[in-house]
Amino acid sequence: MDDYRTKRVLVTGGAGFVGSHLCDRLIRDGHEVICVDNFFTGTRANIAHLRDEYRFEVLRHDVTHPLYIEADEIMNLACPASPIHYQTDPVQTTKTSVHGAINVLGLAKRLGIKIFQASTSEVYGDPQVHPQTEDYWGHVNPVGIRSCYDEGKRCAETLFFDYHRQVGLRIKVARIFNTYGPRMHPNDGRVVSNFIVQALTGEPLTIHGDGSQTRSFCYVDDLVEAMVRMMATPDSVTGPINLGNPGEFTIAELAERVLALTGSKSELRRLPRPSDDPGRRRPDIGLAKRTLGWEPRVSLAEGLPRTIEYFDDLLRRRGRAAVPGPA
Ligand code: NAD
Ligand code: UDP
Ligand code: UDP
Repeated sequence: MDDYRTKRVLVTGGAGFVGSHLCDRLIRDGHEVICVDNFFTGTRANIAHLRDEYRFEVLRHDVTHPLYIEADEIMNLACPASPIHYQTDPVQTTKTSVHGAINVLGLAKRLGIKIFQASTSEVYGDPQVHPQTEDYWGHVNPVGIRSCYDEGKRCAETLFFDYHRQVGLRIKVARIFNTYGPRMHPNDGRVVSNFIVQALTGEPLTIHGDGSQTRSFCYVDDLVEAMVRMMATPDSVTGPINLGNPGEFTIAELAERVLALTGSKSELRRLPRPSDDPGRRRPDIGLAKRTLGWEPRVSLAEGLPRTIEYFDDLLRRRGRAAVPGPA
């Protein structure tokens, strides 16, 4: 692996859940960070603690518009990740993935710099291969309610590989599986944050369908470690590489664990299953293990209490309604 010297890293989506942890890590490693975000789902609260850090800059900008700045590396994370948010304005979601990718790739091309793409397990759609390996092409509905995200991310991968093939751009494409942890937005809509906030506020836990669908949950620190390692690999490593925790749980199991850990008396409320909701998801991380010398260290049993502690503290200090951002 290359050594990882001090660099100016552009992080798009840096005020979001994963992006803010990545900014923290890069600053801790001694780098300069330019955080570019339009604050659609990210918040200033996520990066407020970095305000006085002289190596940290924030730029309010929408990546669907061109951006002319100087940097040494780009980590492209800008894109709403929760189904309720990426479905709010699906056209903007596709634009963010596709126009956003074109702009950051154009920027990387002009500067001749390395660029990372936060792709997703959603490129596999509702998978017919289990666990998912990188050579699986996926099972994606091109015209459904998730398509703006899934197809946008698939097209972004295509753009990354075409810039790599056509102009020799150095790319790193990671397919990220469900990740959770502190700084998820309390109204984010994703299952881990929903269940925790519902349990802590005594509201019913909303289970879509019978709760037998599965997901594999990765703690955010493990993901950030993998991203940093991937960025430091030789240029021959382009990905795609799956990044996630292979522990697989049903949604019903997750609800039970959250109830047990919070001691909540919340009931379970069944809601209809959204269309195209993937039935099973688990990453095969063999390639990540071999290429990055990485595997997740934080189990769900360790990560959930840390996340619960974060939300408990947040709700005590500010109350659910008082937290700014997506509702
Ligand atoms: P998030 O919604 O918390 O963060 C996304 C960030 O991008 C937010 O700060 C948002 O304001 C910003 N953003 C959205 N559209 C933008 C635009 N047009 N211009 C500039 N900024 C914009 O989500 P997250 O969980 O932190 O996800 C970060 C990235 O990782 C996303 O690209 C997502 O697709 C990918 N990912 C995340 C997961 C996960 O489980 N967290 C899984 C797979 C992939
Ligand atoms: N771009 C940008 N910043 C740069 C260079 C390019 O935002 O520093 C954008 C610009 O909008 C451009 C796109 O990236 O249209 C793609 O750039 P590329 O050089 O690949 O193509 P072209 O300029 O021919 O459209
Ligand atoms: N889900 C649920 N209740 C919720 C939110 C989500 O049962 O309040 C389900 C959802 O239908 C899906 C799984 O939990 O089957 C994971 O959903 P999430 O939105 O977190 O992520 P994604 O579907 O993108 O993996």
